[in-house]
Amino acid sequence: MDAATAKTNLLGLDRPGLEGLFASLGEKPFRAGQVLQWLHARGCDDFAAMTNLSKALRERLAQGSQIAAPQVQADHLASDGTRKWLFQVPGGSAIETVYIPETRRGTLCVSSQVGCQLNCSFCQTARQGFNRNLGVDEIVGQIWAASRLLPPHPAREKPITNVVFMGMGEPLLNFDNVVAAIRVMLDDLAYGLSWRRVTVSTSGVVPMIDRLREECPVALAVSLHAPDDALRDELVPLNRRYPIDVLLDACRRYVAGDSRRRITFEYTLLAGVNDHPAQAKALAKLLARVPAKVNLIPYNPVAGLPYSTSPPQAVAQFRDELLRRGLVATVRKTRGDDIAGACGQLAGQVLPRARRAVPLSPSA
Ligand code: SAH
Repeated sequence: MDAATAKTNLLGLDRPGLEGLFASLGEKPFRAGQVLQWLHARGCDDFAAMTNLSKALRERLAQGSQIAAPQVQADHLASDGTRKWLFQVPGGSAIETVYIPETRRGTLCVSSQVGCQLNCSFCQTARQGFNRNLGVDEIVGQIWAASRLLPPHPAREKPITNVVFMGMGEPLLNFDNVVAAIRVMLDDLAYGLSWRRVTVSTSGVVPMIDRLREECPVALAVSLHAPDDALRDELVPLNRRYPIDVLLDACRRYVAGDSRRRITFEYTLLAGVNDHPAQAKALAKLLARVPAKVNLIPYNPVAGLPYSTSPPQAVAQFRDELLRRGLVATVRKTRGDDIAGACGQLAGQVLPRARRAVPLSPSA
Protein backbone atom coordinates (compact mmCIF):
# COMPACT_ATOMS: atom_id res chain seq x y z
CA MET A 1 0.00 0.00 0.00
CA ASP A 2 1.35 3.42 -0.96
CA ALA A 3 0.63 5.83 1.91
CA ALA A 4 0.50 8.84 -0.41
CA THR A 5 -2.12 7.41 -2.77
CA ALA A 6 -3.58 4.61 -0.61
CA LYS A 7 -3.29 2.43 -3.71
CA THR A 8 -1.99 -1.14 -3.59
CA ASN A 9 1.09 -1.58 -5.75
CA LEU A 10 0.44 -4.73 -7.78
CA LEU A 11 4.18 -5.29 -8.25
CA GLY A 12 4.28 -6.10 -4.53
CA LEU A 13 1.84 -9.02 -4.74
CA ASP A 14 2.72 -12.64 -5.40
CA ARG A 15 0.02 -15.04 -6.59
CA PRO A 16 -1.56 -15.60 -3.13
CA GLY A 17 -1.50 -11.83 -2.59
CA LEU A 18 -3.26 -11.16 -5.89
CA GLU A 19 -5.77 -13.92 -5.19
CA GLY A 20 -6.56 -12.19 -1.91
CA LEU A 21 -7.04 -8.90 -3.71
CA PHE A 22 -9.42 -10.47 -6.24
CA ALA A 23 -11.33 -12.29 -3.51
CA SER A 24 -11.92 -8.92 -1.84
CA LEU A 25 -13.31 -7.66 -5.16
CA GLY A 26 -15.59 -10.69 -5.46
CA GLU A 27 -13.55 -12.05 -8.38
CA LYS A 28 -12.33 -15.58 -9.12
CA PRO A 29 -8.76 -16.60 -8.13
CA PHE A 30 -7.72 -17.20 -11.77
CA ARG A 31 -7.67 -13.44 -12.29
CA ALA A 32 -4.43 -13.46 -10.29
CA GLY A 33 -2.72 -15.52 -12.98
CA GLN A 34 -4.01 -13.27 -15.72
CA VAL A 35 -2.71 -10.17 -14.00
CA LEU A 36 0.66 -11.78 -13.19
CA GLN A 37 1.02 -12.53 -16.87
CA TRP A 38 0.20 -9.00 -17.94
CA LEU A 39 2.49 -7.42 -15.39
CA HIS A 40 5.52 -9.66 -15.56
CA ALA A 41 5.49 -11.86 -18.66
CA ARG A 42 4.43 -8.94 -20.84
CA GLY A 43 5.77 -5.99 -18.82
CA CYS A 44 2.44 -4.18 -19.01
CA ASP A 45 1.94 -1.02 -16.95
CA ASP A 46 -1.51 -0.03 -18.17
CA PHE A 47 -4.74 -1.48 -16.80
CA ALA A 48 -6.61 -0.47 -19.95
CA ALA A 49 -4.45 -2.86 -22.01
CA MET A 50 -5.44 -5.92 -19.91
CA THR A 51 -8.06 -6.96 -22.40
CA ASN A 52 -8.96 -10.34 -20.95
CA LEU A 53 -10.38 -8.56 -17.88
CA SER A 54 -13.78 -6.93 -18.16
CA LYS A 55 -13.80 -3.20 -18.62
CA ALA A 56 -15.50 -2.76 -15.25
CA LEU A 57 -12.80 -4.79 -13.50
CA ARG A 58 -10.03 -2.85 -15.24
CA GLU A 59 -11.57 0.37 -13.99
CA ARG A 60 -11.88 -0.91 -10.44
CA LEU A 61 -8.26 -2.03 -10.51
CA ALA A 62 -7.13 1.35 -11.75
CA GLN A 63 -9.04 3.07 -8.96
CA GLY A 64 -7.67 1.04 -6.08
CA SER A 65 -4.26 -0.07 -7.27
CA GLN A 66 -1.20 0.96 -9.23
CA ILE A 67 1.78 -0.49 -11.09
CA ALA A 68 4.74 1.44 -9.75
CA ALA A 69 8.41 0.45 -10.07
CA PRO A 70 11.35 2.31 -8.55
CA GLN A 71 12.35 5.26 -10.77
CA VAL A 72 15.60 5.15 -12.74
CA GLN A 73 17.94 7.83 -11.45
CA ALA A 74 21.01 6.73 -13.42
CA ASP A 75 21.73 4.12 -16.08
CA HIS A 76 25.38 3.13 -16.76
CA LEU A 77 26.68 0.80 -19.45
CA ALA A 78 30.13 -0.75 -18.92
CA SER A 79 32.52 -1.58 -21.74
CA ASP A 80 31.85 -5.32 -21.20
CA GLY A 81 28.07 -4.90 -21.58
CA THR A 82 27.34 -4.93 -17.85
CA ARG A 83 24.63 -2.42 -17.06
CA LYS A 84 23.94 -0.78 -13.72
CA TRP A 85 20.88 1.16 -12.68
CA LEU A 86 20.50 3.45 -9.73
CA PHE A 87 16.83 3.28 -8.72
CA GLN A 88 15.21 5.88 -6.55
CA VAL A 89 13.07 4.48 -3.77
CA PRO A 90 10.60 6.37 -1.60
CA GLY A 91 12.26 8.03 1.38
CA GLY A 92 15.04 9.69 -0.61
CA SER A 93 17.45 6.79 -0.92
CA ALA A 94 18.55 4.92 -4.03
CA ILE A 95 19.52 1.30 -4.63
CA GLU A 96 21.57 -0.38 -7.31
CA THR A 97 20.77 -3.25 -9.67
CA VAL A 98 23.24 -4.78 -12.11
CA TYR A 99 22.66 -6.78 -15.30
CA ILE A 100 25.51 -9.08 -16.33
CA PRO A 101 25.20 -10.53 -19.84
CA GLU A 102 27.04 -13.75 -20.66
CA THR A 103 26.90 -15.98 -23.72
CA ARG A 104 24.34 -18.40 -22.41
CA ARG A 105 22.68 -16.42 -19.66
CA GLY A 106 21.82 -12.97 -18.44
CA THR A 107 22.04 -12.44 -14.70
CA LEU A 108 20.30 -9.71 -12.77
CA CYS A 109 21.92 -8.86 -9.45
CA VAL A 110 19.25 -7.33 -7.20
CA SER A 111 19.33 -5.43 -3.92
CA SER A 112 17.24 -6.48 -0.93
CA GLN A 113 17.84 -3.61 1.50
CA VAL A 114 18.73 0.08 1.41
CA GLY A 115 22.27 -0.28 2.73
CA CYS A 116 23.30 -3.11 5.02
CA GLN A 117 23.56 -3.76 8.77
CA LEU A 118 26.29 -6.36 8.72
CA ASN A 119 29.44 -4.28 8.54
CA CYS A 120 31.70 -6.68 6.63
CA SER A 121 35.07 -5.02 6.91
CA PHE A 122 35.93 -4.97 3.18
CA CYS A 123 32.55 -4.08 1.62
CA GLN A 124 31.51 -0.76 0.12
CA THR A 125 27.83 -1.21 0.98
CA ALA A 126 28.73 -1.59 4.66
CA ARG A 127 30.16 1.93 4.58
CA GLN A 128 26.81 3.34 3.49
CA GLY A 129 25.09 2.29 6.69
CA PHE A 130 21.54 0.98 6.76
CA ASN A 131 18.24 2.70 6.10
CA ARG A 132 15.49 0.11 5.66
CA ASN A 133 14.29 -3.11 4.11
CA LEU A 134 13.02 -2.99 0.55
CA GLY A 135 9.36 -3.85 0.01
CA VAL A 136 8.28 -6.73 -2.23
CA ASP A 137 7.30 -4.17 -4.88
CA GLU A 138 10.78 -2.64 -4.75
CA ILE A 139 12.52 -6.00 -5.13
CA VAL A 140 10.20 -7.23 -7.88
CA GLY A 141 10.29 -3.72 -9.34
CA GLN A 142 13.99 -4.19 -10.12
CA ILE A 143 13.40 -7.21 -12.38
CA TRP A 144 10.23 -5.65 -13.79
CA ALA A 145 12.01 -2.41 -14.72
CA ALA A 146 15.18 -4.15 -15.99
CA SER A 147 13.11 -6.50 -18.18
CA ARG A 148 11.45 -3.49 -19.80
CA LEU A 149 14.66 -1.48 -20.16
CA LEU A 150 16.84 -4.21 -21.65
CA PRO A 151 16.75 -4.56 -25.42
CA PRO A 152 15.38 -7.85 -26.79
CA HIS A 153 18.04 -10.56 -26.82
CA PRO A 154 18.93 -11.89 -30.27
CA ALA A 155 19.18 -15.52 -29.18
CA ARG A 156 16.65 -16.00 -26.40
CA GLU A 157 13.15 -15.01 -25.49
CA LYS A 158 14.08 -13.14 -22.30
CA PRO A 159 17.29 -11.22 -21.59
CA ILE A 160 17.16 -12.15 -17.88
CA THR A 161 17.63 -15.88 -17.23
CA ASN A 162 19.03 -15.75 -13.67
CA VAL A 163 18.59 -13.63 -10.57
CA VAL A 164 21.13 -13.35 -7.76
CA PHE A 165 20.47 -11.55 -4.46
CA MET A 166 24.00 -10.19 -4.39
CA GLY A 167 23.27 -6.48 -4.56
CA MET A 168 22.96 -4.20 -1.57
CA GLY A 169 21.81 -5.70 1.70
CA GLU A 170 21.47 -9.04 3.44
CA PRO A 171 18.48 -10.83 1.88
CA LEU A 172 17.89 -13.15 4.83
CA LEU A 173 17.39 -10.15 7.13
CA ASN A 174 14.46 -9.12 4.91
CA PHE A 175 13.12 -12.64 4.77
CA ASP A 176 9.37 -12.27 4.17
CA ASN A 177 9.72 -9.70 1.42
CA VAL A 178 12.55 -11.57 -0.29
CA VAL A 179 10.56 -14.83 -0.27
CA ALA A 180 7.43 -13.16 -1.67
CA ALA A 181 9.55 -11.55 -4.40
CA ILE A 182 11.14 -14.91 -5.22
CA ARG A 183 7.66 -16.44 -5.54
CA VAL A 184 6.93 -13.93 -8.29
CA MET A 185 10.24 -14.73 -10.00
CA LEU A 186 9.47 -18.47 -9.90
CA ASP A 187 5.80 -18.20 -10.93
CA ASP A 188 5.28 -19.73 -14.37
CA LEU A 189 2.91 -16.98 -15.38
CA ALA A 190 5.30 -14.21 -14.21
CA TYR A 191 9.05 -14.73 -14.83
CA GLY A 192 9.01 -18.55 -14.75
CA LEU A 193 12.57 -18.94 -13.43
CA SER A 194 13.53 -22.33 -12.04
CA TRP A 195 14.75 -22.46 -8.42
CA ARG A 196 18.21 -23.29 -9.77
CA ARG A 197 18.36 -19.90 -11.44
CA VAL A 198 17.53 -17.81 -8.40
CA THR A 199 20.36 -17.53 -5.87
CA VAL A 200 20.11 -16.05 -2.41
CA SER A 201 23.51 -14.98 -1.10
CA THR A 202 23.92 -14.66 2.65
CA SER A 203 26.61 -13.76 5.13
CA GLY A 204 25.25 -16.62 7.22
CA VAL A 205 22.02 -15.82 9.05
CA VAL A 206 21.66 -19.39 10.28
CA PRO A 207 18.02 -19.50 11.49
CA MET A 208 16.87 -17.96 8.23
CA ILE A 209 18.84 -20.49 6.17
CA ASP A 210 16.64 -23.12 7.81
CA ARG A 211 13.48 -21.14 7.12
CA LEU A 212 14.47 -20.66 3.49
CA ARG A 213 14.92 -24.42 3.17
CA GLU A 214 11.42 -24.94 4.52
CA GLU A 215 9.65 -22.22 2.58
CA CYS A 216 11.51 -21.57 -0.64
CA PRO A 217 14.63 -23.69 -1.22
CA VAL A 218 16.25 -21.81 -4.10
CA ALA A 219 19.99 -21.93 -4.77
CA LEU A 220 22.07 -20.76 -1.82
CA ALA A 221 25.40 -18.95 -1.78
CA VAL A 222 27.24 -18.28 1.46
CA SER A 223 29.82 -15.53 1.85
CA LEU A 224 32.54 -17.36 3.75
CA HIS A 225 35.77 -15.42 3.05
CA ALA A 226 37.82 -17.10 5.78
CA PRO A 227 38.74 -20.67 6.78
CA ASP A 228 38.74 -20.02 10.55
CA ASP A 229 36.62 -18.18 13.10
CA ALA A 230 39.30 -15.75 14.25
CA LEU A 231 39.69 -14.26 10.77
CA ARG A 232 36.01 -14.54 9.85
CA ASP A 233 35.03 -12.72 13.07
CA GLU A 234 37.09 -9.82 11.76
CA LEU A 235 35.92 -9.85 8.13
CA VAL A 236 32.27 -10.84 8.61
CA PRO A 237 31.26 -9.75 12.13
CA LEU A 238 28.05 -11.82 11.92
CA ASN A 239 30.38 -14.79 12.47
CA ARG A 240 30.54 -13.92 16.15
CA ARG A 241 26.84 -14.79 16.35
CA TYR A 242 26.87 -17.77 13.96
CA PRO A 243 30.37 -19.24 13.83
CA ILE A 244 31.64 -21.38 10.98
CA ASP A 245 30.70 -24.76 12.50
CA VAL A 246 27.12 -23.71 13.12
CA LEU A 247 26.94 -22.16 9.65
CA LEU A 248 28.25 -25.25 7.89
CA ASP A 249 25.76 -27.43 9.76
CA ALA A 250 22.95 -25.23 8.43
CA CYS A 251 24.45 -25.54 4.93
CA ARG A 252 24.47 -29.31 5.23
CA ARG A 253 20.84 -29.31 6.32
CA TYR A 254 19.99 -27.04 3.39
CA VAL A 255 21.07 -29.58 0.79
CA ALA A 256 20.33 -32.77 2.75
CA GLY A 257 18.19 -35.28 0.90
CA ASP A 258 19.12 -34.12 -2.58
CA SER A 259 22.47 -35.40 -3.73
CA ARG A 260 22.50 -33.09 -6.75
CA ARG A 261 22.46 -29.95 -4.63
CA ARG A 262 25.49 -27.96 -3.54
CA ILE A 263 26.11 -24.76 -1.66
CA THR A 264 28.20 -22.11 -3.39
CA PHE A 265 30.76 -20.61 -1.05
CA GLU A 266 31.90 -17.13 -1.99
CA TYR A 267 35.44 -16.29 -1.00
CA THR A 268 36.73 -12.81 -1.75
CA LEU A 269 40.51 -12.91 -1.98
CA LEU A 270 42.21 -10.14 -0.01
CA ALA A 271 45.97 -9.87 -0.55
CA GLY A 272 47.94 -11.07 2.47
CA VAL A 273 44.78 -11.54 4.55
CA ASN A 274 43.03 -14.72 3.40
CA ASP A 275 44.85 -15.76 0.22
CA HIS A 276 47.72 -17.88 1.56
CA PRO A 277 47.97 -21.47 0.21
CA ALA A 278 47.76 -22.74 3.81
CA GLN A 279 44.37 -21.01 4.04
CA ALA A 280 43.25 -22.77 0.85
CA LYS A 281 44.23 -26.03 2.45
CA ALA A 282 42.30 -25.19 5.62
CA LEU A 283 39.29 -24.16 3.51
CA ALA A 284 39.34 -27.44 1.61
CA LYS A 285 39.44 -29.35 4.88
CA LEU A 286 36.53 -27.34 6.25
CA LEU A 287 34.36 -27.84 3.17
CA ALA A 288 35.03 -31.56 2.88
CA ARG A 289 31.91 -32.08 5.02
CA VAL A 290 29.49 -30.05 2.85
CA PRO A 291 28.48 -30.53 -0.80
CA ALA A 292 30.20 -27.38 -1.97
CA LYS A 293 31.57 -25.39 -4.81
CA VAL A 294 33.81 -22.41 -4.21
CA ASN A 295 33.52 -19.17 -6.09
CA LEU A 296 36.70 -17.13 -5.64
CA ILE A 297 36.13 -13.41 -6.06
CA PRO A 298 39.13 -11.18 -6.76
CA TYR A 299 38.71 -8.22 -4.41
CA ASN A 300 37.38 -5.05 -5.95
CA PRO A 301 39.15 -2.24 -4.13
CA VAL A 302 37.05 0.16 -2.07
CA ALA A 303 38.46 3.64 -1.48
CA GLY A 304 39.51 4.21 2.11
CA LEU A 305 39.70 0.52 3.05
CA PRO A 306 43.02 -1.14 3.89
CA TYR A 307 42.62 -4.11 1.52
CA SER A 308 44.06 -4.87 -1.87
CA THR A 309 43.45 -7.37 -4.65
CA SER A 310 45.41 -10.62 -4.60
CA PRO A 311 47.79 -10.87 -7.55
CA PRO A 312 46.54 -13.19 -10.33
CA GLN A 313 49.17 -15.83 -9.54
CA ALA A 314 48.03 -15.94 -5.89
CA VAL A 315 44.43 -16.36 -7.07
CA ALA A 316 45.44 -19.19 -9.43
CA GLN A 317 47.50 -20.87 -6.73
CA PHE A 318 44.65 -20.65 -4.24
CA ARG A 319 42.26 -22.16 -6.77
CA ASP A 320 44.70 -24.94 -7.65
CA GLU A 321 45.12 -25.86 -3.98
CA LEU A 322 41.34 -26.31 -3.75
CA LEU A 323 41.13 -28.27 -7.01
CA ARG A 324 43.95 -30.55 -5.92
CA ARG A 325 41.94 -31.40 -2.82
CA GLY A 326 38.90 -32.36 -4.86
CA LEU A 327 36.83 -29.20 -4.50
CA VAL A 328 35.04 -27.55 -7.39
CA ALA A 329 36.45 -24.03 -7.55
CA THR A 330 36.06 -21.22 -10.06
CA VAL A 331 37.31 -17.66 -10.19
CA ARG A 332 34.58 -15.10 -10.72
CA LYS A 333 35.28 -12.89 -13.66
CA THR A 334 35.22 -9.24 -12.67
CA ARG A 335 32.41 -7.56 -14.56
CA GLY A 336 31.36 -3.96 -14.80
CA ASP A 337 34.22 -2.58 -12.72
CA ASP A 338 34.51 0.54 -14.90
CA ILE A 339 31.03 1.58 -13.70
CA ALA A 340 31.57 0.47 -10.08
CA GLY A 341 29.14 -2.37 -10.75
CA ALA A 342 31.35 -5.21 -9.55
CA CYS A 343 30.89 -7.27 -6.38
CA GLY A 344 31.00 -5.15 -3.27
CA GLN A 345 31.11 -1.85 -5.14
CA LEU A 346 27.40 -1.13 -4.97
CA ALA A 347 26.78 1.98 -2.98
CA GLY A 348 23.50 3.57 -4.01
CA GLN A 349 22.48 6.42 -1.79
CA VAL A 350 21.65 5.41 1.70
CA LEU A 351 20.23 8.13 3.85
CA PRO A 352 20.69 7.79 7.56
CA ARG A 353 17.31 6.95 9.08
CA ALA A 354 17.03 10.24 10.93
CA ARG A 355 17.63 12.34 7.82
CA ARG A 356 15.56 10.40 5.36
CA ALA A 357 13.92 13.36 3.70
CA VAL A 358 17.10 15.32 2.95
CA PRO A 359 17.78 15.27 -0.80
CA LEU A 360 21.24 14.09 -1.88
CA SER A 361 22.99 14.84 -5.11
CA PRO A 362 23.41 11.79 -7.40
CA SER A 363 26.47 9.66 -6.59
CA ALA A 364 29.41 9.70 -8.96
N1 SAH B 1 24.82 -9.79 2.19
C1 SAH B 1 24.87 -10.84 1.22
C2 SAH B 1 24.69 -10.33 -0.19
C3 SAH B 1 25.87 -9.52 -0.72
S1 SAH B 1 26.54 -10.44 -2.04
C4 SAH B 1 26.13 -11.64 1.38
O1 SAH B 1 26.97 -11.24 2.18
O2 SAH B 1 26.26 -12.70 0.78
C5 SAH B 1 27.95 -9.62 -2.40
C6 SAH B 1 29.16 -10.53 -2.37
O3 SAH B 1 30.32 -9.76 -2.72
C7 SAH B 1 29.42 -11.07 -0.99
O4 SAH B 1 30.02 -12.34 -1.03
C8 SAH B 1 30.39 -10.06 -0.45
O5 SAH B 1 31.09 -10.53 0.66
C9 SAH B 1 31.26 -9.82 -1.66
N2 SAH B 1 31.97 -8.55 -1.61
C10 SAH B 1 31.70 -7.48 -0.85
N3 SAH B 1 32.59 -6.49 -1.09
C11 SAH B 1 33.42 -6.96 -2.03
C12 SAH B 1 34.52 -6.39 -2.73
N4 SAH B 1 34.88 -5.14 -2.51
N5 SAH B 1 35.14 -7.13 -3.66
C13 SAH B 1 34.71 -8.39 -3.92
N6 SAH B 1 33.68 -8.96 -3.31
C14 SAH B 1 33.04 -8.27 -2.37
